[in-house]
Amino acid sequence: MSDRDCPDCSTRMQSFWVPPRQAGPEVELDRCNDCGGVWFDAGELAAASGRAVTLKREETDRLCPACDLPLHDGELSGGVEVETCAKCRGTFLEARDMAALSKRTPAKKAPGGTGFVCDACGERKPFSQAQATLTGLECEGCVSAKVAPPAPPEKAEAASVFGKFVGWLRGE
Ligand SMILES: [Zn+2]
Ligand SMILES: [Zn+2]
Ligand SMILES: [Zn+2]
Repeated sequence: MSDRDCPDCSTRMQSFWVPPRQAGPEVELDRCNDCGGVWFDAGELAAASGRAVTLKREETDRLCPACDLPLHDGELSGGVEVETCAKCRGTFLEARDMAALSKRTPAKKAPGGTGFVCDACGERKPFSQAQATLTGLECEGCVSAKVAPPAPPEKAEAASVFGKFVGWLRGE
């Protein structure tokens, strides 16, 4: 469990780890299971995506989960709108920002191993098949095989957007 609350809906966020684009430790990011938004602490988005975030002057109506200061509009290189904190440089992406990003051409494929290990079947799968669950990442096959009541469509959509987004970061 993360120690961050979602800037959008104040839900306690859930931590995920993704491989960095260059050699180094895995990158931690925090995802909201409610709205599907994702928070990166300073430098984590750059480490995961190999892209920089530019801070703009305009403030948004959301607060930084680390500093409690208003987030600013920002831009991830490639022209994607994000929100970023002027003090700690953490960055928030809404689910729709990730959906927009995932439709773009991915960066050059990251070196090293790709994909994630499904929590349910233990097999390595591409991130494009990852679904975010309340406990971690599972593959599409395992999620759809469960007899649990189906998630509301917007949450199911956000769960698969997250996997596609991480795949996009990795250049899959
Ligand atoms: Zn949220
Ligand atoms: Zn901050
Ligand atoms: Zn699986």
